[in-house]
Amino acid sequence: KPVPTITLNDGHTIPQLGFGVFKVDPTETTRIVADALEVGYRHIDTAAVYGNEEGVGRALASAGLDRSELFVTTKLWNDEQGTQSALDAFDASLEKLGLDYVDLYLIHWPAPANDKFVESWRTLEKIRESGRARSIGVSNFLVPHLDRLLTETDVVPAVNQIELHPAYQQGEITAFARQHGIHIEAWGPLGQGKYPLLEEPVVTTAAEAHGKTAAQVIIRWHLQAGNIVFPKSNRRERMVENFDVFDFELSHTEVATISALERGGRVGSHPNDVN
Ligand code: NAD
Repeated sequence: KPVPTITLNDGHTIPQLGFGVFKVDPTETTRIVADALEVGYRHIDTAAVYGNEEGVGRALASAGLDRSELFVTTKLWNDEQGTQSALDAFDASLEKLGLDYVDLYLIHWPAPANDKFVESWRTLEKIRESGRARSIGVSNFLVPHLDRLLTETDVVPAVNQIELHPAYQQGEITAFARQHGIHIEAWGPLGQGKYPLLEEPVVTTAAEAHGKTAAQVIIRWHLQAGNIVFPKSNRRERMVENFDVFDFELSHTEVATISALERGGRVGSHPNDVN
């Protein structure tokens, strides 16, 4: 079955399931992303700070796929927020990726102590106007940060990419985002292995009931919630596993029992602390 697409608030579509490359070693990135493309992933999520855009670019170039079949996201790092610095950082990312446009460009963190995210967003608006980023969005933005963009700038972010998994569902941000047409991308969808989601009895019970794995059940939970996800794995067999999630559906009861795993605890950093 094909990967479902989600239509963003600017009319562009994004494959709901992709492949993330956080902590993918730059020297191994080309092989790993080539594997992911062979497995069937068409949506790749990287960032300037991951240091592996060149490897992603090499894999994209050698895959022989039409550019229109691919969806590539990268992100502006905190140090480069501003106007000219952000334009330069964007150029550098495009160059490393070997692309003439990205599908989605994100502000990686609000870095509120620097107070440059509004200025940076205006820069992303210009980049979008130039056609070199089809869509623009943000990452790790809390409601007050989103609120400032909505009141002080013109373009509503297409997405907010935030830590989100069954133990940390971000109810306040997701409700606000839904109300304003901002789609949620869930990073750390499996809890990054730091939270034992895959061993939770409600997860393993659902997995057994469907003849699937715990990771597939969690990914399915995200898809049914409408989240955009891009689980990461260096291992090809797990890439295959994480992609094989379109032949079953969790029941309402299963979704509810997994949603009851909410613990209000993030595994990553607090957005106000990353500068
Ligand atoms: P994740 O929840 O996808 O966890 C990845 C880890 O889970 C892997 O290292 C692997 O050990 C394990 N895993 C993967 N598949 C598995 C399987 N089938 N069975 C058992 N274990 C499995 O966490 P992530 O990589 O941090 O998040 C996904 C992507 O989100 C990243 O690669 C990156 O693109 C993005 N991200 C963004 C931010 C941000 O600040 N915007 C932060 C972190 C991650």
